[in-house]
Amino acid sequence: MKVGVLALQGASARHAAMLSRLGVEPVACRLPPDIDDLDALVLPGGESTTMSMLLESSGLFGPLAERLAAGMPAFGTCAGMILLGREILDGRDDQRCFDAIDIAVRRNAFGRQVDSFESDLDVAGVDGDPVHAVFIRAPVVEAVGSDVEVLAAVDGGPVLCRQGHVLVAAFHPELGDDLRLHELFLRGCADRRSLGPSGPAPKAPRAENKVVVSAAQPPRTSRRDLSAQAFDEVV
Ligand code: GLN
Repeated sequence: MKVGVLALQGASARHAAMLSRLGVEPVACRLPPDIDDLDALVLPGGESTTMSMLLESSGLFGPLAERLAAGMPAFGTCAGMILLGREILDGRDDQRCFDAIDIAVRRNAFGRQVDSFESDLDVAGVDGDPVHAVFIRAPVVEAVGSDVEVLAAVDGGPVLCRQGHVLVAAFHPELGDDLRLHELFLRGCADRRSLGPSGPAPKAPRAENKVVVSAAQPPRTSRRDLSAQAFDEVV
């Protein structure tokens, strides 16, 4: 299986390392030919406004939008989640997103860099200990469509969502040593491959099915100092 990691900006190296540890050869994607025969793509955290600009200037936006519309599985974390959503709130006017999952996302809504925090999450479909999640200038999911599953929440607000083979996290599962969310994503990709070369039918145009959710708030639970290195890599 060939899994790309969007490597225009942000925390791509850590995602690539996790995929390698799970036995998948990651492909760094910077130009249109890089996505030609991918089975799936990871979109890392970083700065979604910068990534949006670089997606346009590299010529990747259009081909990637086509692959995603045709059903290519994708895993977006933090800025990657913003890029995969249907609507960006508090984005730049010229910022674009792929509409690969039916969520509306508000950028930086948990606050500024100093308001970054960590939380332990119970994740539907992931056994064992809670998943330790690091939120860095994280986006907040403000609305989800009826086809979106909320797999984890903080104070009632969705922070891990899935629609078909598109998985998005408001946090950074690539920081630390827990491979379970990447595993969850790859399991979904494998299921899709077992459906045959074309996978499930591409998404039909959706009706207006917006469900407004109560947005997540930074928890009053443990806040620890995040390492400077983690900040440097993801913003
Ligand atoms: N605030 C960033 C953005 O809007 C996302 C931060 C992150 O990916 N850690 O793109």
